[in-house]
Amino acid sequence: MGLSFEVKESDLLGRIGTLQVGGKTLETPYMFPVIHPVNQLIHPSELLSMGFRGLMTNSYILRKRRRDEALEKGIHRLLEFDGMFITDSGGYQVLEYGDLDVGYRDVAEFQAAIGTELAVTLDRPTGYPQRRPVARETVEYSLKNARGTLAEFGDRPTAWVGPIQGGLYQDLVKRSAKALVAAGFGILALGSPVQVMENYMFADLVDMVIAARRAIPYSVPLHLFGAGHPLTMPLAVALGCDTFDSASYVLFARTGRYMSRSGILTLQSMKHLPCSCAVCSKTSVKELLELDHPGRTRALSLHNLHVLREELEGCKEAIVEGRLWDLVEERSMTHPRLRDAFARLAEYSEDLEAGTPAMKERGLFVRSDLDLRRPELAMAARRLAGAARRSSKKAVIVEGHGLGSPKRDADAYVVHPQLGPVPAELSFQYPFSQTEAALAQGAGDAAGAKRRLRELGYSSVSAGGKVRSRRSRRGGSPSPRSSSARSR
Ligand SMILES: [Zn+2]
Repeated sequence: MGLSFEVKESDLLGRIGTLQVGGKTLETPYMFPVIHPVNQLIHPSELLSMGFRGLMTNSYILRKRRRDEALEKGIHRLLEFDGMFITDSGGYQVLEYGDLDVGYRDVAEFQAAIGTELAVTLDRPTGYPQRRPVARETVEYSLKNARGTLAEFGDRPTAWVGPIQGGLYQDLVKRSAKALVAAGFGILALGSPVQVMENYMFADLVDMVIAARRAIPYSVPLHLFGAGHPLTMPLAVALGCDTFDSASYVLFARTGRYMSRSGILTLQSMKHLPCSCAVCSKTSVKELLELDHPGRTRALSLHNLHVLREELEGCKEAIVEGRLWDLVEERSMTHPRLRDAFARLAEYSEDLEAGTPAMKERGLFVRSDLDLRRPELAMAARRLAGAARRSSKKAVIVEGHGLGSPKRDADAYVVHPQLGPVPAELSFQYPFSQTEAALAQGAGDAAGAKRRLRELGYSSVSAGGKVRSRRSRRGGSPSPRSSSARSR
Protein backbone atom coordinates (compact mmCIF):
# COMPACT_ATOMS: atom_id res chain seq x y z
CA MET A 1 0.00 0.00 0.00
CA GLY A 2 1.26 3.42 -0.89
CA LEU A 3 0.65 5.40 2.27
CA SER A 4 3.01 8.06 3.53
CA PHE A 5 2.75 10.43 6.45
CA GLU A 6 5.11 13.28 7.15
CA VAL A 7 5.01 15.49 10.23
CA LYS A 8 5.79 19.13 9.48
CA GLU A 9 5.07 20.96 12.75
CA SER A 10 4.11 19.86 16.23
CA ASP A 11 2.97 21.10 19.60
CA LEU A 12 2.03 18.90 22.56
CA LEU A 13 1.20 15.59 20.80
CA GLY A 14 -0.64 17.46 18.05
CA ARG A 15 1.00 17.71 14.67
CA ILE A 16 0.50 19.13 11.23
CA GLY A 17 1.23 16.43 8.74
CA THR A 18 0.88 15.45 5.13
CA LEU A 19 -1.04 12.26 4.53
CA GLN A 20 -0.59 10.77 1.08
CA VAL A 21 -2.31 7.70 -0.23
CA GLY A 22 -3.19 6.56 -3.72
CA GLY A 23 -2.08 9.83 -5.30
CA LYS A 24 -4.37 11.88 -2.98
CA THR A 25 -3.00 14.26 -0.38
CA LEU A 26 -4.51 15.73 2.77
CA GLU A 27 -3.11 18.05 5.36
CA THR A 28 -3.72 16.80 8.90
CA PRO A 29 -5.27 17.24 11.37
CA TYR A 30 -8.28 16.60 9.19
CA MET A 31 -11.91 15.69 9.74
CA PHE A 32 -13.60 13.49 7.15
CA PRO A 33 -17.28 14.47 6.91
CA VAL A 34 -19.33 11.28 6.86
CA ILE A 35 -21.73 11.07 3.93
CA HIS A 36 -24.53 8.62 3.45
CA PRO A 37 -23.74 6.39 0.46
CA VAL A 38 -27.28 6.68 -0.86
CA ASN A 39 -28.89 9.97 0.18
CA GLN A 40 -26.61 12.97 0.23
CA LEU A 41 -28.06 16.06 1.77
CA ILE A 42 -25.02 18.01 0.67
CA HIS A 43 -23.41 17.03 -2.60
CA PRO A 44 -19.75 15.95 -2.29
CA SER A 45 -18.75 18.70 -4.74
CA GLU A 46 -20.17 21.26 -2.29
CA LEU A 47 -18.10 19.72 0.47
CA LEU A 48 -15.04 19.99 -1.74
CA SER A 49 -15.73 23.67 -2.39
CA MET A 50 -15.91 24.19 1.39
CA GLY A 51 -12.39 22.79 1.69
CA PHE A 52 -13.16 19.15 2.51
CA ARG A 53 -10.85 17.09 0.32
CA GLY A 54 -11.60 13.77 1.94
CA LEU A 55 -14.86 12.02 2.85
CA MET A 56 -15.90 8.99 4.79
CA THR A 57 -18.69 6.65 3.91
CA ASN A 58 -19.94 3.30 5.10
CA SER A 59 -18.88 0.37 2.91
CA TYR A 60 -21.45 -1.96 4.48
CA ILE A 61 -24.43 0.20 3.49
CA LEU A 62 -22.89 0.88 0.10
CA ARG A 63 -22.48 -2.85 -0.51
CA LYS A 64 -26.02 -3.60 0.67
CA ARG A 65 -27.69 -0.85 -1.32
CA ARG A 66 -25.58 -0.01 -4.39
CA ARG A 67 -23.24 -2.96 -4.80
CA ASP A 68 -23.28 -3.47 -8.57
CA GLU A 69 -23.23 0.21 -9.38
CA ALA A 70 -20.32 0.78 -7.00
CA LEU A 71 -18.32 -2.09 -8.48
CA GLU A 72 -18.95 -0.87 -12.01
CA LYS A 73 -18.14 2.82 -11.48
CA GLY A 74 -15.83 2.77 -8.50
CA ILE A 75 -16.45 4.94 -5.46
CA HIS A 76 -15.15 8.21 -6.92
CA ARG A 77 -17.40 8.20 -9.98
CA LEU A 78 -20.34 6.80 -8.04
CA LEU A 79 -20.28 9.52 -5.40
CA GLU A 80 -18.92 12.17 -7.78
CA PHE A 81 -15.96 13.10 -5.64
CA ASP A 82 -12.36 12.98 -6.70
CA GLY A 83 -10.77 13.49 -3.29
CA MET A 84 -9.66 10.92 -0.73
CA PHE A 85 -12.14 8.35 0.58
CA ILE A 86 -12.01 6.43 3.79
CA THR A 87 -14.59 3.68 4.11
CA ASP A 88 -15.73 2.22 7.37
CA SER A 89 -16.09 -1.53 7.51
CA GLY A 90 -19.62 -1.38 8.84
CA GLY A 91 -18.71 -3.51 11.83
CA TYR A 92 -21.33 -1.69 13.82
CA GLN A 93 -24.08 -2.44 11.27
CA VAL A 94 -22.98 -6.07 10.96
CA LEU A 95 -23.59 -6.33 14.68
CA GLU A 96 -26.76 -4.24 14.70
CA TYR A 97 -28.45 -6.15 11.86
CA GLY A 98 -27.16 -9.49 13.05
CA ASP A 99 -25.53 -10.02 9.65
CA LEU A 100 -22.96 -12.28 11.21
CA ASP A 101 -22.10 -14.35 8.18
CA VAL A 102 -20.30 -11.35 6.68
CA GLY A 103 -16.59 -12.02 6.95
CA TYR A 104 -13.53 -9.85 6.65
CA ARG A 105 -12.87 -11.12 3.09
CA ASP A 106 -16.27 -9.91 1.79
CA VAL A 107 -15.71 -6.51 3.39
CA ALA A 108 -12.12 -6.13 2.19
CA GLU A 109 -12.72 -7.45 -1.32
CA PHE A 110 -15.51 -4.92 -1.88
CA GLN A 111 -13.59 -1.95 -0.43
CA ALA A 112 -10.54 -2.71 -2.57
CA ALA A 113 -12.66 -3.29 -5.68
CA ILE A 114 -14.38 0.12 -5.50
CA GLY A 115 -11.00 1.83 -5.19
CA THR A 116 -11.27 3.55 -1.82
CA GLU A 117 -7.96 5.05 -0.66
CA LEU A 118 -8.31 4.13 3.02
CA ALA A 119 -10.39 1.24 4.29
CA VAL A 120 -11.03 0.03 7.81
CA THR A 121 -10.82 -3.73 8.24
CA LEU A 122 -13.87 -5.51 9.63
CA ASP A 123 -14.03 -4.73 13.33
CA ARG A 124 -16.40 -5.16 16.23
CA PRO A 125 -16.95 -1.99 18.28
CA THR A 126 -16.34 -2.55 21.99
CA GLY A 127 -19.08 -0.20 23.16
CA TYR A 128 -19.70 1.13 26.64
CA PRO A 129 -20.41 0.01 29.25
CA GLN A 130 -18.93 -3.35 28.43
CA ARG A 131 -17.85 -6.37 30.45
CA ARG A 132 -14.16 -7.08 30.23
CA PRO A 133 -14.41 -10.57 28.68
CA VAL A 134 -16.63 -9.16 25.91
CA ALA A 135 -14.28 -6.21 25.40
CA ARG A 136 -11.41 -8.66 25.03
CA GLU A 137 -13.38 -10.64 22.48
CA THR A 138 -13.99 -7.51 20.38
CA VAL A 139 -10.26 -6.82 20.41
CA GLU A 140 -9.33 -10.35 19.37
CA TYR A 141 -12.03 -10.57 16.70
CA SER A 142 -11.01 -7.21 15.19
CA LEU A 143 -7.34 -8.15 15.34
CA LYS A 144 -7.85 -11.50 13.64
CA ASN A 145 -9.73 -9.84 10.78
CA ALA A 146 -7.13 -7.09 10.52
CA ARG A 147 -4.27 -9.56 10.21
CA GLY A 148 -6.18 -11.64 7.72
CA THR A 149 -7.02 -8.63 5.58
CA LEU A 150 -3.45 -7.41 5.50
CA ALA A 151 -2.13 -10.87 4.62
CA GLU A 152 -4.60 -11.44 1.79
CA PHE A 153 -5.26 -7.92 0.48
CA GLY A 154 -2.10 -6.09 1.49
CA ASP A 155 -0.93 -5.85 -2.12
CA ARG A 156 -3.98 -3.81 -3.23
CA PRO A 157 -3.67 -0.04 -3.82
CA THR A 158 -6.08 0.54 -0.91
CA ALA A 159 -4.33 1.34 2.38
CA TRP A 160 -5.79 -0.66 5.28
CA VAL A 161 -6.67 1.06 8.50
CA GLY A 162 -6.21 -1.05 11.63
CA PRO A 163 -9.08 -0.62 14.10
CA ILE A 164 -8.06 -0.35 17.77
CA GLN A 165 -10.75 -1.63 20.11
CA GLY A 166 -10.87 -2.14 23.85
CA GLY A 167 -13.10 0.73 24.94
CA LEU A 168 -12.17 2.06 28.35
CA TYR A 169 -9.90 -0.88 29.18
CA GLN A 170 -6.56 0.80 28.64
CA ASP A 171 -4.55 -2.41 28.70
CA LEU A 172 -6.75 -3.84 25.94
CA VAL A 173 -6.41 -0.64 23.90
CA LYS A 174 -2.65 -0.92 24.29
CA ARG A 175 -2.60 -4.60 23.32
CA SER A 176 -4.79 -3.88 20.31
CA ALA A 177 -2.65 -0.96 19.08
CA LYS A 178 0.66 -2.77 19.61
CA ALA A 179 -0.51 -5.87 17.75
CA LEU A 180 -1.76 -3.80 14.79
CA VAL A 181 1.56 -1.96 14.53
CA ALA A 182 3.40 -5.28 14.70
CA ALA A 183 1.15 -6.63 11.95
CA GLY A 184 2.36 -3.82 9.71
CA PHE A 185 -0.50 -1.31 9.60
CA GLY A 186 0.63 2.15 8.51
CA ILE A 187 -2.41 3.90 9.97
CA LEU A 188 -4.60 3.02 12.93
CA ALA A 189 -8.06 4.11 14.03
CA LEU A 190 -9.25 4.25 17.62
CA GLY A 191 -12.82 3.23 18.27
CA SER A 192 -14.30 5.73 20.70
CA PRO A 193 -17.53 4.32 22.05
CA VAL A 194 -20.41 6.56 20.99
CA GLN A 195 -21.71 6.53 24.55
CA VAL A 196 -18.43 7.93 25.85
CA MET A 197 -18.76 10.95 23.60
CA GLU A 198 -22.50 11.35 24.09
CA ASN A 199 -22.13 11.32 27.85
CA TYR A 200 -19.29 13.83 27.66
CA MET A 201 -16.85 11.35 29.26
CA PHE A 202 -13.97 13.34 27.83
CA ALA A 203 -11.53 12.58 30.65
CA ASP A 204 -11.93 8.87 29.86
CA LEU A 205 -11.34 9.69 26.22
CA VAL A 206 -8.01 11.27 27.23
CA ASP A 207 -6.95 8.03 28.94
CA MET A 208 -7.97 5.97 25.92
CA VAL A 209 -6.12 8.09 23.39
CA ILE A 210 -2.98 8.29 25.51
CA ALA A 211 -3.03 4.50 25.98
CA ALA A 212 -3.25 4.08 22.20
CA ARG A 213 -0.72 6.77 21.36
CA ARG A 214 1.84 5.30 23.77
CA ALA A 215 1.64 2.00 21.91
CA ILE A 216 2.07 3.54 18.44
CA PRO A 217 5.26 4.94 16.91
CA TYR A 218 5.22 8.72 16.51
CA SER A 219 5.40 8.38 12.73
CA VAL A 220 2.16 6.38 12.48
CA PRO A 221 -0.99 8.49 12.03
CA LEU A 222 -3.97 7.89 14.31
CA HIS A 223 -7.60 8.31 13.32
CA LEU A 224 -10.26 8.83 15.99
CA PHE A 225 -13.66 7.47 15.07
CA GLY A 226 -16.63 9.75 15.44
CA ALA A 227 -15.08 12.79 17.08
CA GLY A 228 -16.97 15.57 15.39
CA HIS A 229 -17.76 17.74 18.37
CA PRO A 230 -16.23 21.17 17.85
CA LEU A 231 -15.38 21.58 21.52
CA THR A 232 -13.38 18.35 21.74
CA MET A 233 -11.38 18.84 18.58
CA PRO A 234 -8.47 20.79 20.10
CA LEU A 235 -8.27 18.20 22.89
CA ALA A 236 -8.20 15.29 20.47
CA VAL A 237 -5.60 17.05 18.31
CA ALA A 238 -3.45 17.77 21.37
CA LEU A 239 -3.55 14.06 22.24
CA GLY A 240 -2.09 13.12 18.87
CA CYS A 241 -5.16 12.25 16.82
CA ASP A 242 -4.41 13.15 13.21
CA THR A 243 -7.73 12.47 11.51
CA PHE A 244 -11.36 12.22 12.56
CA ASP A 245 -14.63 11.45 10.97
CA SER A 246 -17.98 12.73 11.89
CA ALA A 247 -21.61 12.67 10.99
CA SER A 248 -22.34 15.04 13.87
CA TYR A 249 -22.76 18.02 11.56
CA VAL A 250 -25.89 16.44 10.07
CA LEU A 251 -27.07 14.50 13.15
CA PHE A 252 -27.05 17.71 15.17
CA ALA A 253 -28.70 19.63 12.32
CA ARG A 254 -31.60 17.17 12.17
CA THR A 255 -32.58 18.04 15.72
CA GLY A 256 -32.05 21.77 15.27
CA ARG A 257 -28.72 21.94 17.05
CA TYR A 258 -26.38 24.74 16.06
CA MET A 259 -22.64 24.32 16.67
CA SER A 260 -20.71 27.21 18.13
CA ARG A 261 -17.34 27.82 19.73
CA SER A 262 -18.95 28.03 23.12
CA GLY A 263 -21.06 24.91 22.82
CA ILE A 264 -24.07 23.45 21.07
CA LEU A 265 -27.03 25.82 20.85
CA THR A 266 -30.65 25.02 20.06
CA LEU A 267 -32.04 26.95 17.15
CA GLN A 268 -35.48 27.03 18.73
CA SER A 269 -34.22 29.10 21.66
CA MET A 270 -31.79 31.33 19.74
CA LYS A 271 -32.35 34.97 18.83
CA HIS A 272 -29.21 35.62 16.78
CA LEU A 273 -26.81 33.71 14.55
CA PRO A 274 -23.31 34.40 15.91
CA CYS A 275 -21.51 33.31 12.75
CA SER A 276 -20.54 34.75 9.38
CA CYS A 277 -20.67 31.63 7.24
CA ALA A 278 -22.43 31.56 3.88
CA VAL A 279 -25.65 30.41 5.57
CA CYS A 280 -25.75 32.58 8.67
CA SER A 281 -24.80 35.80 6.92
CA LYS A 282 -27.78 35.51 4.59
CA THR A 283 -30.54 34.39 6.90
CA SER A 284 -32.03 34.72 10.37
CA VAL A 285 -33.21 32.39 13.14
CA LYS A 286 -36.80 33.15 12.17
CA GLU A 287 -36.20 32.28 8.51
CA LEU A 288 -34.40 29.07 9.43
CA LEU A 289 -37.28 28.02 11.67
CA GLU A 290 -39.72 28.67 8.83
CA LEU A 291 -37.90 26.29 6.47
CA ASP A 292 -39.19 22.74 6.04
CA HIS A 293 -37.24 20.03 7.87
CA PRO A 294 -34.94 18.99 5.00
CA GLY A 295 -34.22 22.64 4.17
CA ARG A 296 -33.41 23.52 7.77
CA THR A 297 -31.31 20.37 8.23
CA ARG A 298 -29.32 21.24 5.13
CA ALA A 299 -28.75 24.85 6.20
CA LEU A 300 -27.71 23.86 9.72
CA SER A 301 -25.47 21.09 8.36
CA LEU A 302 -23.63 23.60 6.18
CA HIS A 303 -23.22 25.93 9.13
CA ASN A 304 -22.02 23.10 11.41
CA LEU A 305 -19.47 22.02 8.82
CA HIS A 306 -18.21 25.57 8.64
CA VAL A 307 -17.71 25.65 12.43
CA LEU A 308 -15.91 22.30 12.41
CA ARG A 309 -13.63 23.37 9.61
CA GLU A 310 -12.81 26.65 11.34
CA GLU A 311 -12.03 24.82 14.55
CA LEU A 312 -9.71 22.47 12.69
CA GLU A 313 -7.91 25.34 11.00
CA GLY A 314 -7.69 27.04 14.40
CA CYS A 315 -5.99 23.94 15.80
CA LYS A 316 -3.44 24.00 12.99
CA GLU A 317 -2.65 27.65 13.50
CA ALA A 318 -2.30 27.03 17.24
CA ILE A 319 0.23 24.26 16.52
CA VAL A 320 2.26 26.57 14.30
CA GLU A 321 2.20 29.31 16.92
CA GLY A 322 2.93 26.94 19.80
CA ARG A 323 -0.26 27.69 21.70
CA LEU A 324 -2.22 24.47 21.41
CA TRP A 325 -2.24 24.15 25.19
CA ASP A 326 -3.87 27.57 25.45
CA LEU A 327 -6.52 26.62 22.89
CA VAL A 328 -7.39 23.38 24.69
CA GLU A 329 -7.62 25.34 27.93
CA GLU A 330 -9.86 28.01 26.39
CA ARG A 331 -12.27 25.35 25.12
CA SER A 332 -12.20 23.59 28.48
CA MET A 333 -13.87 26.64 30.01
CA THR A 334 -17.08 25.91 28.11
CA HIS A 335 -18.08 22.72 29.94
CA PRO A 336 -17.20 21.19 33.33
CA ARG A 337 -16.58 17.81 31.70
CA LEU A 338 -14.09 19.41 29.32
CA ARG A 339 -12.41 21.00 32.31
CA ASP A 340 -12.07 17.51 33.82
CA ALA A 341 -10.56 16.33 30.54
CA PHE A 342 -8.10 19.22 30.50
CA ALA A 343 -7.06 18.35 34.05
CA ARG A 344 -6.54 14.76 32.92
CA LEU A 345 -4.46 15.97 29.97
CA ALA A 346 -2.29 17.96 32.37
CA GLU A 347 -1.56 14.72 34.25
CA TYR A 348 0.05 13.42 31.06
CA SER A 349 2.37 16.42 30.78
CA GLU A 350 5.37 14.15 30.29
CA ASP A 351 3.79 12.43 27.29
CA LEU A 352 3.05 15.82 25.76
CA GLU A 353 6.71 16.80 25.77
CA ALA A 354 7.43 14.56 22.77
CA GLY A 355 6.02 17.05 20.29
CA THR A 356 6.46 20.28 22.20
CA PRO A 357 9.29 22.47 20.90
CA ALA A 358 11.86 23.33 23.59
CA MET A 359 11.99 26.90 22.28
CA LYS A 360 8.98 28.93 21.24
CA GLU A 361 8.51 32.35 19.79
CA ARG A 362 5.66 33.22 22.08
CA GLY A 363 5.73 33.66 25.80
CA LEU A 364 3.97 31.30 28.17
CA PHE A 365 0.75 32.10 29.90
CA VAL A 366 0.19 30.75 33.36
CA ARG A 367 -3.42 31.35 34.27
CA SER A 368 -4.29 28.45 36.50
CA ASP A 369 -2.81 25.71 38.63
CA LEU A 370 -3.14 23.36 35.67
CA ASP A 371 -0.90 25.63 33.63
CA LEU A 372 1.89 24.83 36.06
CA ARG A 373 1.91 21.42 34.36
CA ARG A 374 2.57 22.85 30.91
CA PRO A 375 5.18 20.63 29.26
CA GLU A 376 7.24 23.74 28.47
CA LEU A 377 7.63 24.40 32.20
CA ALA A 378 8.51 20.78 32.93
CA MET A 379 11.18 20.82 30.23
CA ALA A 380 12.50 24.12 31.52
CA ALA A 381 12.65 22.72 35.05
CA ARG A 382 14.81 19.86 33.81
CA ARG A 383 17.05 22.26 31.90
CA LEU A 384 17.43 24.21 35.11
CA ALA A 385 18.36 21.11 37.06
CA GLY A 386 21.08 20.46 34.50
CA ALA A 387 22.26 24.06 34.64
CA ALA A 388 22.35 24.34 38.41
CA ARG A 389 25.82 25.51 39.24
CA ARG A 390 27.85 26.01 42.31
CA SER A 391 30.94 27.97 41.46
CA SER A 392 30.59 29.62 44.81
CA LYS A 393 29.34 28.78 48.27
CA LYS A 394 27.16 31.87 48.26
CA ALA A 395 24.05 32.73 46.33
CA VAL A 396 22.37 36.06 45.93
CA ILE A 397 18.84 36.59 44.76
CA VAL A 398 18.57 39.55 42.39
CA GLU A 399 15.66 41.28 40.76
CA GLY A 400 14.79 41.57 37.10
CA HIS A 401 16.75 39.97 34.31
CA GLY A 402 20.42 40.02 34.95
CA LEU A 403 23.73 39.02 33.57
CA GLY A 404 26.02 39.00 36.49
CA SER A 405 26.22 38.98 40.21
CA PRO A 406 26.35 42.13 42.26
CA LYS A 407 28.84 40.32 44.48
CA ARG A 408 31.98 38.83 43.02
CA ASP A 409 31.98 35.79 45.27
CA ALA A 410 28.28 34.89 44.92
CA ASP A 411 26.20 33.25 42.20
CA ALA A 412 23.24 35.35 41.13
CA TYR A 413 19.73 33.98 40.75
CA VAL A 414 16.47 35.55 39.72
CA VAL A 415 13.25 34.06 41.00
CA HIS A 416 10.88 32.78 38.37
CA PRO A 417 7.25 32.81 39.53
CA GLN A 418 6.73 29.12 38.72
CA LEU A 419 10.18 27.60 38.43
CA GLY A 420 11.84 29.18 41.43
CA PRO A 421 15.49 30.25 41.31
CA VAL A 422 16.96 30.57 37.81
CA PRO A 423 20.67 31.36 37.24
CA ALA A 424 20.73 35.04 36.30
CA GLU A 425 22.46 34.43 32.99
CA LEU A 426 19.66 32.07 31.89
CA SER A 427 16.96 34.56 32.75
CA PHE A 428 16.93 35.96 29.20
CA GLN A 429 16.12 32.61 27.72
CA TYR A 430 12.82 30.96 26.90
CA PRO A 431 10.71 30.40 28.89
CA PHE A 432 12.40 32.00 31.89
CA SER A 433 11.95 35.56 30.69
CA GLN A 434 8.72 34.95 28.78
CA THR A 435 6.25 33.64 31.27
CA GLU A 436 3.27 35.81 32.01
CA ALA A 437 1.64 34.72 35.22
CA ALA A 438 -1.88 35.62 36.11
CA LEU A 439 -1.61 33.91 39.44
CA ALA A 440 1.03 34.43 42.08
CA GLN A 441 1.68 30.92 43.22
CA GLY A 442 4.09 28.18 42.44
CA ALA A 443 7.71 27.76 43.35
CA GLY A 444 8.45 31.43 43.07
CA ASP A 445 8.07 32.83 46.57
CA ALA A 446 11.21 34.14 48.22
CA ALA A 447 11.22 31.62 51.05
CA GLY A 448 10.81 28.72 48.61
CA ALA A 449 13.62 30.05 46.43
CA LYS A 450 15.98 30.28 49.40
CA ARG A 451 15.11 26.78 50.50
CA ARG A 452 15.76 25.45 47.02
CA LEU A 453 19.15 27.19 46.79
CA ARG A 454 20.19 25.69 50.12
CA GLU A 455 19.20 22.30 48.75
CA LEU A 456 21.54 22.98 45.84
CA GLY A 457 24.35 23.27 48.36
CA TYR A 458 24.74 26.99 48.98
CA SER A 459 25.74 27.69 52.55
CA SER A 460 24.75 31.34 52.34
CA VAL A 461 21.77 32.78 50.50
CA SER A 462 21.15 36.51 50.58
CA ALA A 463 18.40 38.46 48.98
CA GLY A 464 17.62 41.91 47.71
CA GLY A 465 20.69 42.49 45.57
CA LYS A 466 20.43 44.55 42.45
CA VAL A 467 21.33 43.06 39.15
CA ARG A 468 24.65 44.31 37.77
CA SER A 469 23.87 45.36 34.25
CA ARG A 470 21.61 45.44 31.19
CA ARG A 471 18.35 45.29 33.06
CA SER A 472 16.47 46.67 30.13
CA ARG A 473 17.36 43.82 27.84
CA ARG A 474 14.43 41.47 27.13
CA GLY A 475 13.67 38.73 24.71
CA GLY A 476 14.71 35.23 23.93
CA SER A 477 18.30 35.42 22.81
CA PRO A 478 20.90 34.62 25.39
CA SER A 479 23.61 37.11 26.00
CA PRO A 480 27.05 36.42 24.48
CA ARG A 481 28.59 36.00 27.88
CA SER A 482 26.15 33.43 29.11
CA SER A 483 25.19 31.46 26.08
CA SER A 484 27.49 28.53 26.14
CA ALA A 485 28.59 26.35 28.99
CA ARG A 486 25.79 26.67 31.48
CA SER A 487 22.75 27.01 29.34
CA ARG A 488 22.33 23.47 28.14
ZN1 LIG B 1 -22.90 29.87 10.25
